[in-house]
Amino acid sequence: MNNLRIGYGYDIHRLEEGYPLILGGVTIPFEKGLVGHSDADVLLHAITDALLGASALGDIGNHFPDSDDKYENIDSRILLRNVIELIAQEGYKIVNIDATVVAEQPKLAPYISKMREQIAEDLEVGKDQVSVKATTSEGLGFEGEGKGISVLTVALLTNR
Ligand code: MG
Repeated sequence: MNNLRIGYGYDIHRLEEGYPLILGGVTIPFEKGLVGHSDADVLLHAITDALLGASALGDIGNHFPDSDDKYENIDSRILLRNVIELIAQEGYKIVNIDATVVAEQPKLAPYISKMREQIAEDLEVGKDQVSVKATTSEGLGFEGEGKGISVLTVALLTNR
């Protein structure tokens, strides 16, 4: 009998000039980038939180506090790989991940395939187990005004 575990992740980062825009480990050319203590990869953060949620291991802030200098400007792929190890230790593996990036600009369609590939590599799963979708918020709210990007994610785990 499969023990299935679902987890939910949500994250937001501010968009400002003078920062790189890194989403799903892919650097995207744009006039603004995401601000954060780490590299501010909002997509990887939401995925990391969904995985922690599915395994009831707390949240990304518990594991990698932004008060800790060792996480300053850290590549979020390192945090994600760290959590993959934790969930493996708990006896779980990933069934699939689904993420929605809410961003008015830039258009993300040309980068989605590369993001999925990169995330799948870090998660040690197939690309077909990783879905990344993009939507605008029709000009409404902070995403619509170009002030930030948010990401919603679900992750499904099962026994190893
Ligand atoms: Mg974050």
